[in-house]
Amino acid sequence: MPSECRDGFPRFELPGAEPHYAPDRTALPEHLRIEVGLDFDKRSIRGRCTTRLKIIEGGPCAVTFDAVDLEIDEVGDGSGAKLPFTVSPGRLRVDLGERTAGGTVEVAVGYRATPRRGLYFVEPDQHYPKKPRQAWTQGQDVDSPRWFPCIDQPGIKATSEVIATVPRPFSALANGELVGEREGSDGTRTFHWKLDVPHSAYLVTLVAGELESWKEKAGPVELDFHVPKGRMADGKRAMGNTARMMAFFTERLGVPYPYKRYGQVCVADFIFGGMENTTQTTLTDQTLHDERAHLDFTSDPLVSHELAHQWFGDLVTCRTWADGWLNEGFATYFEALWREHDLGEDEFRYEMLENADLYLSEMERYARSVVTSRYHEPVDIFDRHLYEKGSLILHMVRGVLGDERFFRAVKRYLEKHARGAVETRDLLRAVEEATGAELSWLFEPFVHGRGHPQLEVGYAWDPSAKLVRLEVKQTQKVGDGVHHFRLPMQLRLVVAGETRTFDLEVGAREMQSFAFPAAVEPTQCVLDPKNWMLKTVRFEKPVRLWREELGAAPEGIVRAIAARALGKQGGEADVPFLEKAILGDKFWGVAAQAAGALGQIRGPAARDALIRGLAVKHPKARRAVVRALGEFREDPAAAGALLSLLEKSDASYFVEGEAARSLGKTRDPRAWDGLVKVRERPSHQEAIRCGAIDGIVATRDERALKLLVDETRLGLPMASRRAATAALGELEGKREARERLEDLIDDPDFRIRHEAALQLGRLGDAKAIPLLERIPSRKDEDGRVKRRARESVRKLGEGKPQAMEALRGEVDALRRELNRVREELAEIRGRTGR
Ligand SMILES: [Zn+2]
Repeated sequence: MPSECRDGFPRFELPGAEPHYAPDRTALPEHLRIEVGLDFDKRSIRGRCTTRLKIIEGGPCAVTFDAVDLEIDEVGDGSGAKLPFTVSPGRLRVDLGERTAGGTVEVAVGYRATPRRGLYFVEPDQHYPKKPRQAWTQGQDVDSPRWFPCIDQPGIKATSEVIATVPRPFSALANGELVGEREGSDGTRTFHWKLDVPHSAYLVTLVAGELESWKEKAGPVELDFHVPKGRMADGKRAMGNTARMMAFFTERLGVPYPYKRYGQVCVADFIFGGMENTTQTTLTDQTLHDERAHLDFTSDPLVSHELAHQWFGDLVTCRTWADGWLNEGFATYFEALWREHDLGEDEFRYEMLENADLYLSEMERYARSVVTSRYHEPVDIFDRHLYEKGSLILHMVRGVLGDERFFRAVKRYLEKHARGAVETRDLLRAVEEATGAELSWLFEPFVHGRGHPQLEVGYAWDPSAKLVRLEVKQTQKVGDGVHHFRLPMQLRLVVAGETRTFDLEVGAREMQSFAFPAAVEPTQCVLDPKNWMLKTVRFEKPVRLWREELGAAPEGIVRAIAARALGKQGGEADVPFLEKAILGDKFWGVAAQAAGALGQIRGPAARDALIRGLAVKHPKARRAVVRALGEFREDPAAAGALLSLLEKSDASYFVEGEAARSLGKTRDPRAWDGLVKVRERPSHQEAIRCGAIDGIVATRDERALKLLVDETRLGLPMASRRAATAALGELEGKREARERLEDLIDDPDFRIRHEAALQLGRLGDAKAIPLLERIPSRKDEDGRVKRRARESVRKLGEGKPQAMEALRGEVDALRRELNRVREELAEIRGRTGR
């Protein structure tokens, strides 16, 4: 298979990726009982897992459990009789003898393990002496069998009990309700948890630690919260909206929260942001934040995402990981729906715009079908296609159906498949059953096909015919899974002060023309004013329409898109309009886009407008202004403004971090000293230190290499070590950078290994290939690190810069040229007084 698709994008499937299929189901688990003792000193476990199985196919019977690196001591049938078994890598096969279909059998497995994945022991060490002692599990996607034997398929469900014995004074959390608790005579405590709703093995959880806890109520549901000692105030700040979210989701879905309790626990060193274990979510402690961070940081996206999963993922589960978007797309969309409910429509639509940007940013890696079973490990597909594109597809479905029908269809989907498993066609079918709408035309190209519509829209007003004529062209390269798309949209014209909305349905073909009546030339011409459809648009309409839309359109999203377009199509004459948007628009997202546009237009007028724009109130808008000032290279005024902001300090950590980043990008001679100094300022998730590190590498100062290598050392915070690791990848041609990255690929923290694998590919030194090639065969390595290593090998092996990188270079050169021309033009205009 060629490594590139026909449209020039790298292929998602890497050499050796095979399709994955679900196994036969001759016996299905009904109930799991996991008794497990944790030995923190030895970082090991001893367990007994009893599975009640229902026989599906009678006759001579056997069951194969997934069991990875478990030492099996014995297998019995629950009544004490031994059962014969065989162990092979990753599997435990138990002979059940002659059985009749429909009967049940218990299989009890005694085992020991020292898990390297699946169950993690966290404790202080010489580098991080303040780290708490904890143990937590992470089953998704395929690691539950590393702490208990199970049939590890998302579509296979059972009720569960976890009976965990931990040393005093630790407590233990698991799924369901606490039904028993006892003190042992040997300094241990045992916690007995039970969940009476069937769920998948990857959702079984166990967390042990010394925690501070509190409870709340959300209607009939018990909420409980657990944080490391001393973090209660930060915990309430992070998770304080849970009860409101619960009420909103329940009301919006028309399907009550499916369980009796919902718990959340924040743990150290967690390997994801959060994990939606049934009734007991695990969150990273990195989401805990102080009051200053709360100014422009919120845990709501994380908290609402994991809560939404309790319906989408836990109650209704993708049958195999190939359809994982049904879990993640819904959870990601419900983050946005919570924002809509809590903060309003502008915020919601802006979040969907950000989701689209994130999905589009993945295009330089690959454009893949959202549903695919061809991967090395399931985690390979947990990417921007699964989350963000998934959410954008649901958003389109809502746009097409309208709110009432959309949520009715979602209710149908949930109720029909509650406690069960789904594939994409089940969603399609539920929509059809609830509303009569058949949406294959939407799912086929967007879910099963690759890419998205790339529209070029030509505009003309025909005064004699009194018509606005639009020519819509789909420019994506069709074939190899990429289709022409059918896009039902609306067009809104403002003509002589009057607003008129028309239907405009783009058909699944390359080119189409439309005409709409307009007695005089319109002042606004907005395609898809709610931005329902996933697409890129290059709309060639007169700049004055964009200006008018920026100033007068009622929707924040339309004003934001207009600001963005002015950055691409506008020039110096648009600066006053953009400045007005920064300081005057009521929605920060518009201000942020306007700032970005000024950063693209450049020139002294844009710079001065941005410097005045620093006075904008909303910290997220201010962050964008500061970011845009970084576009003014070797501009003492821009650098001076950033330096003085850093000197005075800002209310927001993130504005300061961004200012540091931008200061470095200006390459001003004063930048180095300024950055080295602000680097030590404490901030949430090291926002300032990370910004300073990015800024330091952007200065291109020779001293950067030594400083960055030092910033990657153990003992420093993970977030800034990661930023420094990423920065090393910028130092092309530096042998020491490659060598340090090669060391970091053995770092104890997988995030650093992941970053190092990525950056070795970017650095472009083929000497790293042999090392990278060994990563995928590493035992116990995180799948995300393996995937990056494979991609980097492909990139380095091709011996030429990737098409996208070459293109980016060209675009940069063109942009520089354009700015030079713009500046000259401005100068000429100034001289001629125009
Ligand atoms: Zn998720």
